[in-house]
Amino acid sequence: MQRVYLDNAATTAIRPEVVDEMANVMKNVYGNPSSTHVFGREAKALIELSRKNIAQRLNVTSAEIYFTSCGTESNNTIIRSCVNDLDVTRIITTDLEHKCVLESVKDLEKREKVDVIRLNILKDGNIDYDQLEELIKDQSKKTLVSLMHANNEIGNLTDVKHIAKICQENNTLFHTDTVQTVGHYDLDLKDLGVDFASCSAHKIHGPKGAGFLYAKKATHIKPLISGGGQERGLRSGTENVYGIVGLSKSLDLALDELDAHISHIKEIKQYTIDQLKEAIPGVAFNGLSEDLEKSLYALLSIKLPFHDSLIGFELELAGIAVSQGSACSSGAAKVSLVMSTLYTDEEIDQMTPLRVSFSYETTKEDIDILISTLKKIAAKHQLQNA
Ligand code: PLP
Repeated sequence: MQRVYLDNAATTAIRPEVVDEMANVMKNVYGNPSSTHVFGREAKALIELSRKNIAQRLNVTSAEIYFTSCGTESNNTIIRSCVNDLDVTRIITTDLEHKCVLESVKDLEKREKVDVIRLNILKDGNIDYDQLEELIKDQSKKTLVSLMHANNEIGNLTDVKHIAKICQENNTLFHTDTVQTVGHYDLDLKDLGVDFASCSAHKIHGPKGAGFLYAKKATHIKPLISGGGQERGLRSGTENVYGIVGLSKSLDLALDELDAHISHIKEIKQYTIDQLKEAIPGVAFNGLSEDLEKSLYALLSIKLPFHDSLIGFELELAGIAVSQGSACSSGAAKVSLVMSTLYTDEEIDQMTPLRVSFSYETTKEDIDILISTLKKIAAKHQLQNA
């Protein structure tokens, strides 16, 4: 059976060029980057070259990039340090953030370290920008705004440049989770004006276990992990040298080939939308997912017009890997927080959400297999309801 992978928002296949680059380092450079002898200096040089490259590609300075193990660690470090070390006592965020943000914020709230305001979510899945602007004007408490750039479940894009501007004007810190957008867009972090951002290599055809956080020079966050003082004191622990090299290489490849990837993936996404509409009457899309410009172009959040809690298994039997929510919380097909924020219980009882996410490797043949399988599942539901 041909296997079809349509879960690239969960993780991507590592590129062979990245494997080659990493294997070369694994074989030839094994010094501890903290050692002062030549073996250590070789490893250290690779880390610093990677940092410089990543910083240049995002138009920031090397001093603003800190390597971590993943997006989760980056987001945790930023949010917790803002509260623990930068005197933040109020966080403005949403219920639609990734679990690593939701849980960090919840934990700080539980310990009564911060007041948390979760913004209203409009019917299209966007935040209420007017509410945010109003809230930000209150400067009685040092505030952190934490809003993701692209939602990992429905794909809605947040206007981070606009938010960064109003945060700056109101003396407010702004963290944006860019795990789904670094390498998918040509991001200029300096121009965007955010204070903090995050990245995970495995979302951009790089290795698992490598990521970075961006912290604007003036922000001075402090470490979650202490020890030998690596990463200029922010993240102790011997560095994942080949992971860092792989991260840098995967970002290079993603950005060098960005235009071609965007146009291929957008074509695939539009093809999926068109084919779905033809095959399944009543199909719709969650949030702004159908809009190629207002949502992440590599992700389509489908709203099937019938309820099928076993759809993940049915697709799996046909060799198709998709997600019903975000992978990081999945396994079980329970209703996600995002869906329960967007829909009423009655609406949820009459639909099935399905997230398909594409890469430069996705083909129309993959989509045809998905559509023909979904068509059969939809026909079964029509028969049951006839
Ligand atoms: N933030 C977003 C938006 C994500 O989609 C993910 C992963 O799905 C993460 C953070 C966590 O990244 P990692 O898997 O590297 O911990």
